[in-house]
Amino acid sequence: MNFSPGPATLPLPALERAREELLDFAGTGASVMELSHRGKEYEAVHEEAIALVRDLLPVPSTFEVLFMQGGATMQFALVPMSFLLPAGSADFVVTGAWSEKAHAEAAAWAKAVGGHVRVAASTEAQGYRRAARPDEVDLDPSAAYVHFTSNETIHGVQVLDPRTRFGECPQVVDMSSDFMWRRMDITPFSLIFAGAQKNIGPSGVTIVLVRKDFLERSRKDLPKILQYRAVAEARSLLNTPSTFAIYLVRNVLLWVKGLGGLEAVEKRNRAKAEALYAAVDADAGFYRCPVEKESRSVMNAVFRLPSEALEKAFVDEAKKQGMIGLKGHRIVGGIRVSMYNAVEPEWVTALVAFMKDFAKKSG
Ligand code: PMP
Repeated sequence: MNFSPGPATLPLPALERAREELLDFAGTGASVMELSHRGKEYEAVHEEAIALVRDLLPVPSTFEVLFMQGGATMQFALVPMSFLLPAGSADFVVTGAWSEKAHAEAAAWAKAVGGHVRVAASTEAQGYRRAARPDEVDLDPSAAYVHFTSNETIHGVQVLDPRTRFGECPQVVDMSSDFMWRRMDITPFSLIFAGAQKNIGPSGVTIVLVRKDFLERSRKDLPKILQYRAVAEARSLLNTPSTFAIYLVRNVLLWVKGLGGLEAVEKRNRAKAEALYAAVDADAGFYRCPVEKESRSVMNAVFRLPSEALEKAFVDEAKKQGMIGLKGHRIVGGIRVSMYNAVEPEWVTALVAFMKDFAKKSG
């Protein structure tokens, strides 16, 4: 029972299929990772993975679907490099560790080219315990874009509900830890990026959804490998992609489709999160979730116990019962339960039973 924040658990059927096909993919006598990325066998996998992202989310034809490398962290650099021009400005909504990082990377680029970055809102003074509300954000209407993090993986804060917008300028969203766990309308956003290693695959591939009209605005004088436009024109085959990671994304998304698509997956995910937070609230004298109720993350639930010693005992005892990945991030401590798509509801049921026992025994 793996509750890891990422790289995270993968659906068993996706792994089993990889095992079956490992030594002989599509009758080639080789594994998919040993085949040319220009060959028809790999290209079919590549196109199927893109088609599944398009079909499941869904992604309309006004957007490009890109597979890139360098993780979400690379996107922290590439977005400003592409869209933050000298004398231009970009706004950041800072709601936790990941939006802080994105802001810092953009600030470095702004300094290099003579542009600006602004913190349009920050919930740091409140300890990153909630989303920023659109009405408390001080936006620059002429900003090149506004960047926000849809789910703060470390602080357990859900920022994006599907209606969230920060003003009228292009919305850039880091969706790394809540990508493709629900069906949603992405058309209000201009660029979305997410590492695959939480909800839809292993590390090594980053999915970028970019609106074609926004793409047109990106700088044309960067090295090609850093240009979204060039990656799009090459259908994410500008250079050798992470073929095996993309293959696994294909397997995971086929599993999602088999479950009934993202509507069914959302129901499953919401039920898991409700059960988990109900267990936290049921023993409120023992467990304490620092995040305000309306901002509690569906993917990453964080909570504290009365002492760090008890938190350590919780993690150690859970491990003995087969539950791993529960230690909170080192900068915040506590417990973090990540409940991405592939976390089985029964695991959450087992964890909830463990939490009840643990509180009774130790409280
Ligand atoms: N943004 C968010 C919201 C994340 O959760 C993470 C990874 N935990 C990152 C960015 C960084 O991702 P990567 O390691 O793929 O660069």
